[in-house]
Amino acid sequence: MAGNKAKAEDMEKTVEIIRGDTPGTEWRFPVLRFSGADASAPTAYLQAALHGSELPGVAALHYLVPELERAEGEGRLRGAVTIVPQANPIGAGQHLFLQHMGRFSFHSRSNFNRDFPLLADTDTSHLPRDDAPIAAEKRLKARLVTLALGHDLVLDLHCDDEGPSYLYIARAFWPHMADLAASLGSKAVLLWDGTSDAAFEEAAWAPLSALPDEDPAWARKAATTVEFRGESDVSPELGRADAAGLYRFLVARGTIEDGRLPSLPEWSGTVTPLANVEMVRAPVGGAVLYHVSPGDHVEVGQRLVTLLTAPGEIGGETHVTAPQAGMILTRKRNRLARIGDDLLKLLGSKPSETAKSGSLES
Ligand SMILES: [Zn+2]
Repeated sequence: MAGNKAKAEDMEKTVEIIRGDTPGTEWRFPVLRFSGADASAPTAYLQAALHGSELPGVAALHYLVPELERAEGEGRLRGAVTIVPQANPIGAGQHLFLQHMGRFSFHSRSNFNRDFPLLADTDTSHLPRDDAPIAAEKRLKARLVTLALGHDLVLDLHCDDEGPSYLYIARAFWPHMADLAASLGSKAVLLWDGTSDAAFEEAAWAPLSALPDEDPAWARKAATTVEFRGESDVSPELGRADAAGLYRFLVARGTIEDGRLPSLPEWSGTVTPLANVEMVRAPVGGAVLYHVSPGDHVEVGQRLVTLLTAPGEIGGETHVTAPQAGMILTRKRNRLARIGDDLLKLLGSKPSETAKSGSLES
């Protein structure tokens, strides 16, 4: 009987303020919190748009919040949930000549998803606060880590240029996080070894990093970068579907109770160690003509891209071929390449000759 259930607390909204680096400026971002009815249930932290214009996660969280409110109202929200719908107001506001550029800080050129503080435990009391004499982007990173640490499940929602839904997962979390891949319908999982150059997800699991892979803590927790398809894949339908996937995962982990959902299907996507990802790059600059799309399977030597270096002239084409057989995961949106630009991610079955340690992209 509904009357037996404790009255749900309302969602709490607070506004985080990041002091500007110069007088008269500051940034703000909202944090939405649900307290959860059971202190022992897994807690969750979800943030989106760390790279400013990566909005599929923003849409997903927009549609997830009413579902959390409903679950709370019906006494089904077990664990506390913290939502940061737009985690990077600095990056969101970076425009130059009508173009948005949210990946790198205009101030320092550092990637907004690198160089997070990696802590040995969840005590964030010694992280710099907003009055510290350091740049706003560093204080923002410290603030986001402070908000996230202590939660059992931490999802950082990003997207790629063009491609399907996929996940980056630290190896010790695998296969425990196959439930996330199944919930979201991810097409591929890329497994990290070593470091991700201190991406947010690494900061989220850093307190576990000294534990051996077989420690049960890895199975109870989750921390990852979700790549929700491409930057243009933002619509009410996709937002609702992604919200349903996130909700499904929170039910699978026991943060939300929902007996109406069918059991989660086995996940059967592609798992690829990061070293096997071919970052196919432009050997010359020019107009990019793709012969392949995300999801395509290709053979070694197959033509992937034609670059027009001198359109209309003999010898004005340069072809780029597959360094090994595999599946095309993503491709760039921008069709004008500079020499050395990333064009495609290809998931191979053996290590790439150009593999390097750390993150795939700068
Ligand atoms: Zn991103």
